[in-house]
Amino acid sequence: MPFSLIPHRLFDRYDQITPAYLRERGITLLLSDLDFTLAAKSTRRPDQPLRDWIAGLGENGVQFMIVSNNRSGTRVTEFCAELSVPYQGRAGKPSPRGLETAMARAGADRTSTAMLGDKLLTDVLAANRAGVLALMVEPVGGAVTLWQKVLHALQAPFKAACRRRCGKRTEKNQ
Ligand SMILES: [Mg+2]
Repeated sequence: MPFSLIPHRLFDRYDQITPAYLRERGITLLLSDLDFTLAAKSTRRPDQPLRDWIAGLGENGVQFMIVSNNRSGTRVTEFCAELSVPYQGRAGKPSPRGLETAMARAGADRTSTAMLGDKLLTDVLAANRAGVLALMVEPVGGAVTLWQKVLHALQAPFKAACRRRCGKRTEKNQ
């Protein structure tokens, strides 16, 4: 569904996504948003749990790349450099263009790629338009500002639809 706002699966935190989960679905490239997905926006340096999680993906044959709409660059560039992971900036999500560029750089196709993010209107929509597995997380640090709280409320029905779908998948053992 190219214009769907419903993610394939919803997680509480990024580290619930394991190499085994990705391997079962044939995923060898995980693209990820940064802000509120892997760290709060105010976080300047990656913490050890994030480093360990990315290392674990690599050890299990999953490439990892950050795909961000961020234009200013300095913080994201430094954050990714510290993690030693490639970074695709100015991705223009919800356009699928940035994801397609990242896939081309990594030599992966859409059937072996997943996109992880915290926002439906950018991350999930871009993932669905690109035809990759759309994974969503609750925002790191929760909704703090008024805008985040409004966004949270607007996203709720789509997340509920995802949970219903996930329940059906579990019943079918997928
Ligand atoms: Mg984000």
